[in-house]
Amino acid sequence: MKFQTKGIVVRETPKGETSKLLTVITSTHGVITVNAKGVRRLSSPFLKASQLFAFSELLLHENNGFYTLSEAVLITDFYPLRKDIKKYALACYLCELASDFSVPGEDSGIILRLLLNSLYAVENSLASEELIKAAFEIRLCAECGFPPDATCCAECGNDLSKSDAVFDIAEGVIFCTDCSSHSSERVLLTPSVIKAINHIVEKDMSKFIAFRISDRDMGLLCSCAEKYILARAERGFKTLSFYKHCEEI
Ligand SMILES: [Zn+2]
Repeated sequence: MKFQTKGIVVRETPKGETSKLLTVITSTHGVITVNAKGVRRLSSPFLKASQLFAFSELLLHENNGFYTLSEAVLITDFYPLRKDIKKYALACYLCELASDFSVPGEDSGIILRLLLNSLYAVENSLASEELIKAAFEIRLCAECGFPPDATCCAECGNDLSKSDAVFDIAEGVIFCTDCSSHSSERVLLTPSVIKAINHIVEKDMSKFIAFRISDRDMGLLCSCAEKYILARAERGFKTLSFYKHCEEI
């Protein structure tokens, strides 16, 4: 059966002499593996559409859960991301996270939109890389059913907007300092970080990275965002190690 969808290539693996296996996050079928025959030939009409970060209108053939590429019309290839090693590393990490949190066979429209907006932001330097990374990690968790509730203390219900609070990473809840949990994975949050978390979770996806934060609070936000998503994913990511290595260069 043939069907049309939109999708972004988040991983490419060579297959045989001229083909590739593509991991694609689609708007309609979640994350799928697509057999792209002959696309490594320079003469292939789908050469660009079958490269990492390529976002295209796709015509796919499905047979017993196996997908084959029939046609592709490139919408954008995010090519500039390949020219800056730090941006490239961050883009790879965002793609791996999006792929890990997408469910095969299910509508991934929201995750796809979040990824596209974030890659566009990285490509065009709409914010610092560390801000985009932290905002993506928190928003992805929120869109996948794990929104950190930063509005009021999970124990006593007190407003969290005016004083420091404690983020229980394992439970995904935030306490005022009086009710601080006994969890071992705790991060201290300032009112500015709490405000930023609420912005990231609640704002329209076109504005979720549009906030300012001091360098000190940025460090806290990055720390809690990364710990939070790694706890939800229950695994590490090679692309995250690569990004951190590139940050040190
Ligand atoms: Zn409390």
